[in-house]
Amino acid sequence: MRILLLIGLVLCSICTRAQTADTIYLLTADRVFDGEAMHNQWAVLIKADKIVAVGEKKSLDIPANAKRLDFPGCTILPGLIEGHAHLLLYPYNRKSWDDQVLKESDALRVLRGAKQAEATLKAGFTTVRDLGSEGAGYADVALRQAIDSGWYAGPRLQVAGRAIVATGSYGPKGYDNDSKIMLGAEEADGNDAVRVVRSQIGQGIDWVKIYADYHWGPNRQSLPTFLLEEMKAMVAAAKSAGRPVAAHAGTAEGVKRAVLAGVETIEHGDELDDEDIALMKEYKVTYFPTLAASESIRQYRGWRKGTDPEPVDITAKKISFRKALNAGIKIGMGGDVGVFAHGNNVLEMELMQEYGMPAVEVLRSATAVNAAALHLENTTGKLQKGLQADVLVVMGDPSKQVSDCRKVKLVVKGGRIVP
Ligand SMILES: [Zn+2]
Repeated sequence: MRILLLIGLVLCSICTRAQTADTIYLLTADRVFDGEAMHNQWAVLIKADKIVAVGEKKSLDIPANAKRLDFPGCTILPGLIEGHAHLLLYPYNRKSWDDQVLKESDALRVLRGAKQAEATLKAGFTTVRDLGSEGAGYADVALRQAIDSGWYAGPRLQVAGRAIVATGSYGPKGYDNDSKIMLGAEEADGNDAVRVVRSQIGQGIDWVKIYADYHWGPNRQSLPTFLLEEMKAMVAAAKSAGRPVAAHAGTAEGVKRAVLAGVETIEHGDELDDEDIALMKEYKVTYFPTLAASESIRQYRGWRKGTDPEPVDITAKKISFRKALNAGIKIGMGGDVGVFAHGNNVLEMELMQEYGMPAVEVLRSATAVNAAALHLENTTGKLQKGLQADVLVVMGDPSKQVSDCRKVKLVVKGGRIVP
């Protein structure tokens, strides 16, 4: 047993040493999706952490010492990008959101989060935008630092920290005031909202996440929270510090205010009206529909998809999605993963295809469109000379069936093969 362990350690150190800064890989497969289009008989050349060439196999200048990795029957893609995750949450059918926020320590949640980050990377997602720690403070900032330091395997992270909600709007709700109940986000209003934006930036967040509406109406229906002026002030404070703003916005009015305030991405957009669509187009906002979260929550509440009639909120979401698609709004890929299992991120892509987006467009969303939305177009999201070597190889042809993205053969992040 001890000898086996020793051999294992030696082999392991060999693989790490073998992949030195100068290692050159030539990846070949039946097809290459470069972030824009599918190409037959292309190949990708990687040196150290960068892509050095992409193109027709015969046209590439291949160094003699390049290691060849051939994948017959497969497709090479840019590493996928998850646009809306919560690595510190896990599926609500396993534990309710209230219980995760209130009863679990931040330490436990961040240790689990590290495992979930690894599962996400192994599923082919080399970059993730995490949109709120949901009661775990700035544990997401720590997780990003730990991954960047190489302590844990995980995607490149952009994080939003605590996120910002209007006073009285967010949960957990319904507890007696005798004890202090910790909320899933930080409350702020009026001029104080500007101070909260700055304080969160000071803690190391990459994105400011604000809730433009929430289900806090008299009948728990979603209603707007922040006034337009409050959101404008928060966006201005974030922008002057170089941080983009993402808005949770389900209602038509919430979306309108958020877009007019200058946020860069709209999360959920459950009931987009024609004015929302026109504004999103005019302001060049990226829409993250989070179809998988909506469907998962409905199913946790008993909906049997394909058997029971479609719930009204799912029908409304489909209508919103198709309106945005037909209008040519930029649609990003972000499932709100955490509501459903980390590593199952492809579910959102499958639903985007099911709701009417052509498969190749879904692939663009999960790569080049998301990279641009995250201001990472000069880093990742395409197989292009000079960008980071973030590469995914899957069996089959995901430009026909995006579910082929589940058939992972190889993941490379920043030139390093994920074991
Ligand atoms: Zn979310």
